[in-house]
Amino acid sequence: MHRYHGIPTDLARALRAGVPDANGQPAERIANPWQAAPCRHCLRSIPQGAEMLIFALRPFAHLQPYAETGPAFLCAAGCAAHAGHGVPPVLTSSPDYLVKGYGADERILYGTGQVVEVAGLDARVADLLFREEIAFVDIRSARNNCWQARARRV
Ligand SMILES: [Zn+2]
Repeated sequence: MHRYHGIPTDLARALRAGVPDANGQPAERIANPWQAAPCRHCLRSIPQGAEMLIFALRPFAHLQPYAETGPAFLCAAGCAAHAGHGVPPVLTSSPDYLVKGYGADERILYGTGQVVEVAGLDARVADLLFREEIAFVDIRSARNNCWQARARRV
């Protein structure tokens, strides 16, 4: 059994309040110019035209060589953190995703990284989390490498 989650609510609140992001800059605020943009907190699509934030995200506790930083989107208005079981809505909007397993030291476990079709995403995550040495699985865009969500055992 595993669950998907986005960024912590505390981080979402801080970014909306203007606290600097992982690059030390305040989030940019725009009206979503794209058909959809994945919010990393509620794990739903931000509708076109809706106010959103763009910020630099480094979803790791410590600075180390594997702590990648990249762009991420957030609903500008308050949204509720994703909750519940199953694949969140935002992870069904692309044909495939890049999935990687990490150890408790937040470093990639080589051999786990794979681009998987959306229909097989949940099964691949379950397979990886069956392995004791994998602490969590990150799901990223297969095209842009942006962090989408994390899955953990529950
Ligand atoms: Zn949201």
